[in-house]
This record gives sequence, structure tokens and C-alpha cells, in this order.
Amino acid sequence: MSQTITPVLGEATIQELREAVRGAILTPSDSGYAEAVRIWNGAHDSRRPALLVRCTGAADVIAAVGFALSNHLPVAVRGGGHSVAGFSTSDGGIVIDLSAMNGVRVDPESRVATVGGGAVWADVDHETQAHGLATTGGLVSSTGVAGFTLGGGIGWLMRKHGLACDNLIGADVVTADGRLVHVSETQNADLLWGLRGGGGNFGIVTQFEVRLHSVGPVVYAGPIFYSADADRDLLQVFREWAPEAPDQITGLVNLTTAPPLPVIPEEWHGKKVAAFIAVSTGPIDAGDALVREFRNVATPIADLLGPMPYNVIQTLIDPLWPKGINAYFKATNLARLDEALIDQLVDLHLDAPGPQCEIHVHQMGGSVSRVPEDATAFAERSMPYVLNAVTGWHDAAEGQAHEDWARAVNAAAEPASTGRAYVNFLSDPGGARAAYGPSTYDRLVALKDEFDPSNVFALNQNIAPNA
Ligand SMILES: Cc1cc2nc3c(=O)[nH]c(=O)nc-3n(C[C@H](O)[C@H](O)[C@H](O)COP(=O)(O)OP(=O)(O)OC[C@H]3O[C@@H](n4cnc5c(N)ncnc54)[C@H](O)[C@@H]3O)c2cc1C
Repeated sequence: MSQTITPVLGEATIQELREAVRGAILTPSDSGYAEAVRIWNGAHDSRRPALLVRCTGAADVIAAVGFALSNHLPVAVRGGGHSVAGFSTSDGGIVIDLSAMNGVRVDPESRVATVGGGAVWADVDHETQAHGLATTGGLVSSTGVAGFTLGGGIGWLMRKHGLACDNLIGADVVTADGRLVHVSETQNADLLWGLRGGGGNFGIVTQFEVRLHSVGPVVYAGPIFYSADADRDLLQVFREWAPEAPDQITGLVNLTTAPPLPVIPEEWHGKKVAAFIAVSTGPIDAGDALVREFRNVATPIADLLGPMPYNVIQTLIDPLWPKGINAYFKATNLARLDEALIDQLVDLHLDAPGPQCEIHVHQMGGSVSRVPEDATAFAERSMPYVLNAVTGWHDAAEGQAHEDWARAVNAAAEPASTGRAYVNFLSDPGGARAAYGPSTYDRLVALKDEFDPSNVFALNQNIAPNA
């Protein structure tokens, strides 16, 4: 199917779909269309899909896929709508919006949750924490379970309990030919392999089954903020600490600008700061000992690391990243955090063009690295760190400077990079081949040939089929 054809749809044609689905259909002439087609990243707000179908279940999804095929419409699939690359909208195409399919059902005995294809992490955390359970979710609670999990899923629980995709044990998937297939370890296991990191390339997941773990309700978590003068010392301490830390803790360094939050002394608001953020799911009274080194890096501006409800850490930074902000991320996997890279990151932090330019260094390892490389489609598991240059801005005129800065951070990291990347942190399309590397990419192409040979699901970090 060509992604360049944008036919004009007549009302009679759309009426056929209205009769086939239970959910709402919104076209440019409907009130509510403009709000409905907005995704999280404001930089993609100018896109104007021909229609949006707000599906209520798998039957609607099947009807929408069939309609898209009959009318040669490019297909955008929306879970939580957080695609930084803007993959969940398009110009002239159909948006298959699953946001109304956000139900979560928890079985506390088997410790499995069934999660609708349009749920966000706030939906999951709310239901699972009622039973003292959780699974690896995002750092911002409005992020969708679907895109996050299908791309891999880096979160606070990953070093103890694996990536989100490692906790995916089953799914219902609408394929490009309109079938609903169930996948599990024993049913369509090759497709489950692809859903664990291969993104939305193989079909539309209407329901996920995810493994849950005992977490909280109180964990040892939170940020410590220091002056940017401590950038270098913090990165050095983090580098020595990270490989030795037990699985129960996951940490992150964030070179950023102090947000105007009451927990940070006012004189620091708007100033460049370094932060160490961690979550430990181990015993609360063991928490202090796990992070002792970080209390000696420099005198903290604010030290909020301590006992905290899991649901609080899961929503802590939500207000800083609201829907509608413009954003651009660029990331790479690091083989090492050497002095040459640290020097450059310190300089780039100080040169950042706006207050929401952040350099994230994620601590990897633990359970993530113990899953065999070929067990899932997730690009790479042995890297000790993932570097992500995260930018957000409100004035469109500032976009270019922010994107250029994120690219400069990535370029600086090239000598220390493994050459691979995490697909969910890439804002530029066309990054899949390099991100996955040859052996995983070839296997993904074979799976694409089997499940989507015409590339119906092309708005993603695309695996191009051989056909
Ligand atoms: C503020 C913010 C914070 C983030 N934090 C993290 C983080 O902590 N860790 C991390 O790993 N990533 C993080 N990300 C990246 C995030 O994982 C990706 O943006 C992810 O794709 C979002 O999923 P979504 O469902 O919200 O996105 P959407 O925009 O809805 O979709 C993203 C992609 O997934 C596909 N897709 C969506 N739903 C389905 C479905 N039901 N079936 C099949 N395909 C589907 C879409 O076609 C699209 O290609 C963050 C992003 C943002 C914007």
C-alpha cells in the first residue's frame, strides 16, 4: 500500500465505516476533531488526518483496518499518543485511536494484568498498586502502555523485573489482513518475539497480558539535585556506582535546569543543575546505604531521595512534560562513560539552549542484561548506559536550536556508542536498521514479510518488508 496517496473521502464512504463501528468517527468537519487529533508532541500538531476512529474494541479495529485498506489510507495507530516522532498521526490518513480501550484488569493471584491497547501507565499503576503490584512502566504516567512496551520499555523497575517487553506474556493482535490473533509463549511465539521490542510493525495490539511483581506501596526513591558545578563529579561517581549496584535499584543522571518547583530553593529556579534520580524496590531501611556515594558528590541543593509512595514517583515529573509541548529526543546506547564523553556532556549541558534540554544517562544492566540478546527483538542488552538528549520547547522559533543541540549531544557520544539505539527514544524516522543492528533487523524483516508484507503499519520506526 502506498503511503503517499491521500484520497478525498466522500461522506457516503465514511458513512459505511460509521455503520461498521461502535466508536466515534471524527473528520475535519466534526466539532471535536481538532482536539481529538492532537498528540502529545506539539511539534506535530499541524498534521491533519482524513479521519480518526475512536475504537471501542477489537471489532472496531478490524473494521478500521479494512476501511483503510479499501480506501488506500495511510494508517496511524494511537495508544497513548506519546510518539515523540509523531507516528500516531498523519496527513490525510486514518488514525486508529485506541485511547478509549484503556481498561485494566488485575488477577492478583496469578499476578497478571490484562491491559487495553490504549491504556496509559497511570491506568495500570492505579489498578495494580491496589494489590501492591506493579510492572515496569514509564517515567511519565501519561505515556501509553502500547508504544512503550512494543518498543522495549525503559523504566524504574527494569533492573529488577526486566524491561516492559520482558513482562509481556501475551497479546491480542489485529494483523494487516484483519485477523485477530492471540500470541503467547506457545501461540504465535515468533510474533511475541517481534512484539517484544519490534514496535508497532506487525499489527495493532488490542490487549496486552503483562506479568506483575510485588512493589511498594512505598519505595525508596526520588531525586537529589546539585549545582551544575558537580556535573563531572556526579557522572564519575555514577559511572563507578552503576555496575556494582544491586538489581533492586535503578538510577539515572539528568543534567538539566532546575524547574520552578517548591521543593527546590527559589534561588536555584532556572539555573543549570545536575540530578541523580533513583528508585529502589528493596527494603526501605536499606535505601540510604545503596545511594551513600551520591550524598558526598557535593552539597545537594535539594535531597528528596527517601521513602516515597510508588505512585508518587511514577507521576513526579508529569507536570514538566505536558501534552502540547514541542519535543525532540535523540539517543544512543553507550559502551562506556569515559572522561572524553564526560567532558563533552558537561560543556553541552552548560551550552543547552533552553530550560527543557536534558541529558539523561540511564543505568542499564541487572535483569535487562540477563535476558539473552536473541530472546526478544529489543535492540541490545549488554550496554551499561543509554544516553538520551531530551528537549522540549514552547515557542516554535526555538525548535531548530533544540534539535541541533540534541544532535550535538549524540554526535559527542559517537566514539563511546555501541552504534545501537533504543527505538522509542528516536525522533527521526528511518532509524530502525541502525538501531537494531543486522541480525535482529533481518529477523524483524522476515517477521514483517510474514505478517505485514504490504507495510500497512508503516508509521513507526519502520521495518521495511522485502516485497
Ligand atoms: C514524556 C515522555 C516520556 C517518556 N518516557 C519514557 C520512559 O521513561 N521510558 C521509555 O522507554 N520510553 C519513554 N518515552 C518514549 C515512549 O516509550 C514512546 O514515545 C512510546 O512510543 C509511547 O507510546 P504511546 O502508546 O504513548 O505512543 P503512540 O504515539 O500512541 O504510539 C507510538 C508507536 O506505537 C504504535 N502503537 C501505539 N499503540 C499501538 C497498539 N495498540 N498496537 C500496535 N502499535 C501501537 C504507533 O503506531 C506508533 O508507532 C517517553 C515519551 C514521552 C513523550
